[in-house]
Amino acid sequence: MQQLRFDNTFVRALPGDPLTEPRPRQVHAALYSAVQPTRVSSPHLIAHSREVAAMLGFTDEDVASQRFADVFAGNALLAGMQPYAANYGGHQFGQWAGQLGDGRAITLGELVTETGGCYELQLKGAGRTPYSRTADGRAVLRSSVREFLCSEAMHHLGVPTTRALSLVGTGEQVVRDMFYDGNPRPEPGAIVCRVAPSFLRFGNFELPAAREDLPLLERLIDFTITRNFPELPGADDDKNALRARWFGEVCARTARMVAHWMRVGFVHGVMNTDNMSILGLTIDYGPYGWIDNFDRDWTPNTTDAEWRRYRFGQQAQIAYWNLGRLASALAPVFPDHDLLHAGLQRYVDAYIAAESSNIAEKLGLAECREEDAEAMHALHALLERGEIDMTLFFRALSDLDLQAPSLDTFAAAFYDPVKREQVAQDLLAWLKQYAARVLGDARSAEARRAQMHAANPRYVLRNYLAQQAIDRAEQGDYAGIAELLDVMRRPYEDQPGREQYAERRPDWARSKAGCSMLSCSS
Ligand code: AMP
Ligand code: MG
Repeated sequence: MQQLRFDNTFVRALPGDPLTEPRPRQVHAALYSAVQPTRVSSPHLIAHSREVAAMLGFTDEDVASQRFADVFAGNALLAGMQPYAANYGGHQFGQWAGQLGDGRAITLGELVTETGGCYELQLKGAGRTPYSRTADGRAVLRSSVREFLCSEAMHHLGVPTTRALSLVGTGEQVVRDMFYDGNPRPEPGAIVCRVAPSFLRFGNFELPAAREDLPLLERLIDFTITRNFPELPGADDDKNALRARWFGEVCARTARMVAHWMRVGFVHGVMNTDNMSILGLTIDYGPYGWIDNFDRDWTPNTTDAEWRRYRFGQQAQIAYWNLGRLASALAPVFPDHDLLHAGLQRYVDAYIAAESSNIAEKLGLAECREEDAEAMHALHALLERGEIDMTLFFRALSDLDLQAPSLDTFAAAFYDPVKREQVAQDLLAWLKQYAARVLGDARSAEARRAQMHAANPRYVLRNYLAQQAIDRAEQGDYAGIAELLDVMRRPYEDQPGREQYAERRPDWARSKAGCSMLSCSS
């Protein structure tokens, strides 16, 4: 742990806040504020990701040491760390919200790995910063377990995401009113150490633009390109062409990320522009959720229950809207606005391409034709009408007897026998047409099955599974977290003996807090 090297380019290259106190305030002409994590009473490691630890250069002995828990609870710093909170704004639920910033996230430093990779290590829940406003800068165990498990699960599913190194209990209580209904209660506190090449969000660019601080905006753009998009600059680029290529790349990455969400049934829940990564990573796991019965109108976020702005089926449109806000922020330093429009068009093109390949892969086809896209659309409507589990249905689809299609293949995926009956005839007709289409492809059954198994996970982090691990963790039993983390390491493989992690949501979880609905309180 002593040998780790930190090269804190962000704080080295960019202007920071001259004040160092955590008092809440507006911070102008600066992209971050130096801030120290606040000590906690008794740090203890609850879980860690062995893949992330290895990637960063932590040995097993490092991870097992009390010093590791101390560092990743914010009680100690490693040599070379320079903690700071980033300054950003954002559009929240469609409205410009002004300065937000890292209210409870503190970046410890940028770690350079032996292979030359560079990763920000960021604590979430490590105490107040100048951006905490009236809040406490802390995080509760339940939301920290959810962020820790989901970022690793998403990685293993092949979805671009920030990672999680560690989950540390603080030994302190944090008071939260979980459903904002006047019933605050103390809950155990925890801190996740998140890891990504950058935690910059659209909102980091929007804030200097909103304040008309164009020199600061330009510095941030050029810094981001140099540090995080080294492959972009060409030999004879002018500045504007390079910036335009960068914006187009952000758009394409965002499109691919959202297409992955739609493939695996992930609902982010709070796609505000301060929660959109400039690297196209899934970031800020709050009231996210996983689709059980296929439902494009579903959102896990109780705060959004009325308008459902961030519902499953609207994520692609929202990402586009968010990129529009980013384009508006960049416009004052883009002399040619056509380049921004071209970038937004790249989003559309990349999304359509990714969606087509999702369709081909999920259905096991050599290519996605126009009629296949229509068939997928029709299937979505049937899954909705029949209240059918998304993950179980698509996984079972590779087991369909193409000579004699039957609904029995999907028996485990139905939530309601009455709805099954209602949709049975139409679904069977769909399956017969599908079987004919597949038989027309000149490919082996094995190749098709392998393709489908690589796109349709057997295991996803169903909301109720995470909640069960949380319930146990709140009683001091962390084995459920470790087990779930291990299951989610190989989501596309059948894992004999772990069938209970691949079952549909049980009835008791249908409308239980944490299992089907979540608030932003965390
Ligand atoms: P979120 O909805 O989690 O993306 O958070 C929006 C803003 O609120 C960000 O600026 C967060 O840093 C801030 N925030 C959320 N929870 C807390 C907290 N417990 N303490 C301080 N700031 C917070
Ligand atoms: Mg956030």
